Amino acid sequence: MKAYRIAIVGLGPKGLYAFERLLAQLGKIEGEQEIEVHLFEKSGNYGAGAIYDPNQPDYLLMNYPNRNIDVWPTENLKPVVEHSPSFSEWLTNRTPEKVASYDDQFASRSLVGKYLKDSFENLYKRGIQSYRIIKHSCAVVDISKMEEAYKMRLKVAMDGEDQTLIVNNILISTGHCSWKGSFEERKHGDGTKIPEKSTVPFIYPVNLKLSKVQGNTPVAIKGMGLTFIDAVLALTEGRGGRFLTKNDDLVVYEPSYKEPSIIHAFSRTGLPMVPRSVDEGKKAYRPVYFTHDSIRRSMGNGQKPCFLKHILPLYKLETEYRYYTVAFKNKGLTLYPEDNANGLRRQILNFHKDYTEEYPFRFENMFRSVDIQNPSVKLGPLAYLRYLVEEAELGSEKSPFMAAAMTWGKISGLFRSVYNFGGMTAESHQMFEQNFRSQLNRISYGPPLTNMKKIVALVESGILNLDYAKKPNLLWKQNRWHLGVKNRKPVEAEMLVDARIPTNVSQADWSPLLKGMQKNELLREFIVPGKKSYNTSCPEIDRSGRLVDPEGNINNDITLYGTLTEGIVYDNDSLSRECNNFASSWALRTVEKYSEIQLNSKIEAP
Ligand SMILES: Cc1cc2nc3c(=O)[nH]c(=O)nc-3n(C[C@H](O)[C@H](O)[C@H](O)COP(=O)(O)OP(=O)(O)OC[C@H]3O[C@@H](n4cnc5c(N)ncnc54)[C@H](O)[C@@H]3O)c2cc1C
Repeated sequence: MKAYRIAIVGLGPKGLYAFERLLAQLGKIEGEQEIEVHLFEKSGNYGAGAIYDPNQPDYLLMNYPNRNIDVWPTENLKPVVEHSPSFSEWLTNRTPEKVASYDDQFASRSLVGKYLKDSFENLYKRGIQSYRIIKHSCAVVDISKMEEAYKMRLKVAMDGEDQTLIVNNILISTGHCSWKGSFEERKHGDGTKIPEKSTVPFIYPVNLKLSKVQGNTPVAIKGMGLTFIDAVLALTEGRGGRFLTKNDDLVVYEPSYKEPSIIHAFSRTGLPMVPRSVDEGKKAYRPVYFTHDSIRRSMGNGQKPCFLKHILPLYKLETEYRYYTVAFKNKGLTLYPEDNANGLRRQILNFHKDYTEEYPFRFENMFRSVDIQNPSVKLGPLAYLRYLVEEAELGSEKSPFMAAAMTWGKISGLFRSVYNFGGMTAESHQMFEQNFRSQLNRISYGPPLTNMKKIVALVESGILNLDYAKKPNLLWKQNRWHLGVKNRKPVEAEMLVDARIPTNVSQADWSPLLKGMQKNELLREFIVPGKKSYNTSCPEIDRSGRLVDPEGNINNDITLYGTLTEGIVYDNDSLSRECNNFASSWALRTVEKYSEIQLNSKIEAP
């Protein structure tokens, strides 16, 4: 009898979680047919994938604390391994003298990678005692349907023939669909070809990709999010520069003289992310105004919610409530939550009558480079960075700004249940993706405070320049990049580094695997229907992650999970085990299908 073959494509964190649940479910069943589990990870880092590569430098940090990291689920069906430590427990086991102090730290991504890899190895060792588990360190480049199974095409060597494998059931967890690898700036300038040596389209792995950047030459970096911080640190600390500290506080950057002469960073908004201290998010919070009931009350029956009309006003109200809760507390007062927004505003009005020097909270000011409590003066880049660091140090228990900025993270769980699977109107979905998603990420999901202090030290040292940060005019001419903003002399750069995280803006960004599957009529793009429907550039799945084909049929044998489903579900691009968890239902479905086949074969046997 031929083996029943199960494949997991992409063994980053989400592929690992799926593997873990599969082994747990397989442990429950018996059958005559042999089971083979095929694991595909093109980076060769099983469990960690490319993002948590254990060999990357230690200064590349996580953006959320250790207490949130745990490979093992809290489900009734226990993991098959004896030891299932959370990340903090795993760290404690490595160095027992520091017991229980790990929860409230930001670890390096490489260390998290070691934990993920270790968890994978333990599962693998346990799994091979019962099943054939085959690791393939190669990319799956195509999947097509056969009669009762699927043919996978594997790119084993760049210049060799592709190989094929027939499988019965597939989970695809390949992460970000593709790295963009191109700059739209190519279109501008003097029309001459931009040599490859003048661009870094994608920075990971940093040691390899950024080695192209020559020391002592000017560089421009596009994007000012988390990847920008990785790129800047790789070009400075990664080249032997040191951040000197006094009383645990970063004071100054000591250069190695191997870094670029200057780094000009820029983005669409020109604003850095809001950093977070390790205590941020520690205290549970129950939203007062942004609730299921209030969303339902604000909508008419049977209507889909509109982001601007039904969601945003409640988010603004929650933000205002959180801002003033801290502003009141700082004056020794208490703000009482009232069901009715007018009641809340009355208290706020009275507060301003008593404290005339306090500037009224304006939601819009969270997205401008101003001190929210004194917004009349626009802050320059360095002053704004220092402001953000000071506020983050106070944290959302003491800083009204931080309380307001962190609100999105507190309500995003409920927002997810509204957004997922096209829950909002098509216009709203589009509006959210294009105008709100990255701005909300900027204020709510920022880097560790330590990293932003390093950025401040680099601006102070003159190595990092943010004077051209807001949407400069960027041209390629006379063999160089030219950056210009109003009222400033243009500056030049030898190299342009793309430090943006690729997102699916169109199907053109899809990986060869997804493009191939689309051609083979296994999948279709998810479109939010409406008067003006919205193409999400995300493959369509049902509510348990099963792929939907061009005819709208649900494919019980192929499931998508993890970052590549971002856009049809929200907040999936994280290490979270619980958020949009399709792994558990996939594993259950897979063993049920196997059991059904076993039963049928027994009935059919004479
Ligand atoms: C630079 C960076 C920093 C981040 N920091 C954090 C953080 O601090 N905290 C957090 O929660 N999240 C962070 N994230 C988000 C991150 O995407 C998730 O934490 C997590 O990696 C998502 O897991 P995944 O398995 O869905 O995707 P991935 O981690 O991307 O894993 C997908 C894997 O599939 C493999 N693969 C892709 N295509 C194929 C193919 N065709 N065949 C075989 N293998 C394939 C890839 O090699 C990759 O290893 C970060 C992301 C980036 C890019």
